[in-house]
Amino acid sequence: MQNKENKFGFPSKRKIEFELNIKIILICATVILSLFTCKSSKSKSPIISSTRTIINHSDSAFIANAIESLDTANLPLITVQVNIHFVGNRNGNFYPGKASDEKYTNGLFWSEKLIGHANHVWRSLEASSTSRKNYLGNARLQFKIYTESQNTEDKYQGVWFWDNMNQVKRYYQEKVLNIILHDTGRPKSEQLSGIACGLNMCNELSLNGAYDNAANGGKFGWWSFAGTLNHEFGHICGLCHAFYCDNECKDIDLDAAKECHTAPCFNDCGGPNSGVCKCWDTGTKNMMGYNASGTALTPCQWKIMMRNLCFSKAEYIIKNFRSPKN
Ligand SMILES: [Zn+2]
Repeated sequence: MQNKENKFGFPSKRKIEFELNIKIILICATVILSLFTCKSSKSKSPIISSTRTIINHSDSAFIANAIESLDTANLPLITVQVNIHFVGNRNGNFYPGKASDEKYTNGLFWSEKLIGHANHVWRSLEASSTSRKNYLGNARLQFKIYTESQNTEDKYQGVWFWDNMNQVKRYYQEKVLNIILHDTGRPKSEQLSGIACGLNMCNELSLNGAYDNAANGGKFGWWSFAGTLNHEFGHICGLCHAFYCDNECKDIDLDAAKECHTAPCFNDCGGPNSGVCKCWDTGTKNMMGYNASGTALTPCQWKIMMRNLCFSKAEYIIKNFRSPKN
């Protein structure tokens, strides 16, 4: 599905965010005469707020254990704040149409469908016949388009339209994952590819070919680009390709040889697999492979993602903790 990707590794500034409360501070102050932030606290007493129950965010051992044991009820729901940028070229661009306008080139219509489909996949992960084990159901991760009502420049609530790449402004900076829709191919070339900024919770990815497919009746609709979006975000959350020789999950619950099919594996985490593997014939549904489905993750893959999401300081990652009793 993806044929052009980067080599990763762009550091990005992160504002450290801690959610403390007075109760925890007092307990810590009396128990520990230091400036540690209760990192090792075993307190699981929830603090009731009007809308949700908050578990001690800094209890990293508790969270890590919940991830490791697939104790999903004790994990946060992750919201990934995104902005979408439609960037034109000489062939044209998406436009900001009305809600009732269901033309595929209406960027507001298309982007809503893109996010809706991507979220559908995260909510309902499926099994892949190539995996030894599968993580099924809700990945506890959702994209949400971010906007600020007082920002008068943000006319379309987190969806932006630019004539070219030089115009692109990232108004919300580190608060959002920027999804750049920018075609680089010829008209009617029916491309579908993506690039992630890295493996380290950086905050930009780009998708190529969306306008060309939307404008010219190409076979790749928003549902296909949703798969590519999820795949690229998987990279950002630390995942390598399923067919990568040194995949962390290889021989745990992932079979790199099965994912690759025509070779033992491919020796690059995120680089383009230029025909070494015949991935499309494997029958895999793995999100980090090249296939038309992209609806499966193994438990090991999900744990890597969730560890990086839960312990990330990235501003665009919002963690909503709930009481296990809810
Ligand atoms: Zn990839």
